Amino acid sequence: MGNCNSCCSIYKRTTTADGEATAGKAGQGGNAGQQGSQLPVSNPASPVPSKPLGPIGSVLGRPMEDVRATYTLGKELGRGQFGVTHLCTHKVTGEKLACKTISKRKLSSNEDTEDVRREVQIMYHLTGQPNVVELKGVYEDKQSVHLVMELCAGGELFDRIIAKGHYTERAAAGLLRTIVQIVHTCHSMGVMHRDLKPENFLLQSKAEDAPIKATDFGLSVFYKEGETFRDIVGSAYYIAPEVLKRKYGPEADIWSIGVMLYIFLCGVPPFWADHPWIKEDGEAPDTPLDNAVINRLKQFNAMNQFKKAALRVIAGCLSEEEIKGLKEMFKNIDTDNSGTITLEELKQGLAKQGTKLSEQEVQQLMEAADADGNGTIDYDEFITATVHMNRMDREEHLYTAFQFFDKDNSGYITKEELEQALKEKGLHNGQEIKEIISEADSNKDGRIDYTEFVTMMRRGTPEATPKKRRDFFF
Ligand code: ADP
Ligand code: MG
Repeated sequence: MGNCNSCCSIYKRTTTADGEATAGKAGQGGNAGQQGSQLPVSNPASPVPSKPLGPIGSVLGRPMEDVRATYTLGKELGRGQFGVTHLCTHKVTGEKLACKTISKRKLSSNEDTEDVRREVQIMYHLTGQPNVVELKGVYEDKQSVHLVMELCAGGELFDRIIAKGHYTERAAAGLLRTIVQIVHTCHSMGVMHRDLKPENFLLQSKAEDAPIKATDFGLSVFYKEGETFRDIVGSAYYIAPEVLKRKYGPEADIWSIGVMLYIFLCGVPPFWADHPWIKEDGEAPDTPLDNAVINRLKQFNAMNQFKKAALRVIAGCLSEEEIKGLKEMFKNIDTDNSGTITLEELKQGLAKQGTKLSEQEVQQLMEAADADGNGTIDYDEFITATVHMNRMDREEHLYTAFQFFDKDNSGYITKEELEQALKEKGLHNGQEIKEIISEADSNKDGRIDYTEFVTMMRRGTPEATPKKRRDFFF
């Protein structure tokens, strides 16, 4: 509901009267998102790289590409301060998506450009979170940057609330629960939203019980534990006082949630913060919910050896922008900057995020991710174990991985090829190769064709409790 913006002026990178530097270049210290530079050539949404490559775009730093070559843009779905969103249909598959177009003319400073790059990195980082709008691909042409995302056909939460005309406390409580969960997920992934308001929560469909999805990470940043921020960003009504005082952390998002709750219940914004639930050190419980990275590690732990090896190949193909967030998490856990995560660092990193695990559980996760068994997790191992499965579920990645195993290009992965490939990756630990193959080989011809390979990769990973002991190897 873009029109709401007319009543809430948006603050963005406001510079103070004394002309202080904005956007944490100097004042913020080590802000991960600020370091983004050129983004590599790799567009997850584009099935076939367009040829010939166009000139390099000034925002994404990669060849420009016409979004209209792949999609047809349709009616306007909404607009905010920075972007206009249109319905968008894939020309070949007919898939309906949403395309947010940000005009480059509006990007007046380097900080604005950096914000767009970061919006892309953060959306990729949050891929797979069920209540976050999923980014499918990014395009840049001469005039604009286009973010192609999953479609939320139910519109903005705000409109739904208004259309209902009334709201029960129970419904508001349910809504709040979901929103708190979403924001907790963002925080546990090292992302502060900084612009939480009802317009930035969308409904996936028009159904009464449609899931809510957070969107608009245009002002969001990656943050590290204990880091403080100085730039004044957000929207009036929702902005926390400490943001205006230029010294804040992720708690500022919680303030905005409080304002949203007030609006859900009263229909008007609060003029002063009056409630023990919102108050600092107030009644709001501090119970850790779930943690995304730990779930991925657990899932990885339960994966079979073949699938893990394939994921390793795929992780190597991902672009910088897709794994930027995980890279930052790695650095955050690797406190002594040694380039490897030790058991102690992993334990402390998980504890920092509010995850309480037994010594033995941490040890198991450590062993799961430590592919070469040297007792520490290096960067590649971390990315492989924590990258979300949605990232790998793309045809071209699966095909690359298949080719890696199918050494002689015969269209089949044989026993010998698998053995050789696993050895090459340092992963073969003497397990019965036949047994590994038989898990994927559904037509029982003793080898794996591409269809069987794709089915294996897309099949849900067994529960974190492995059925076979070898699931615990590496
Ligand atoms: P801005 O950064 O300009 O605020 P947003 O990302 O908030 O841009 O998008 C502007 C508006 O476009 C949203 O408030 C919403 O109405 C609509 N919109 C954005 N993303 C989607 C989507 N995935 N599906 C449907 N509508 C969307
Ligand atoms: Mg918005």
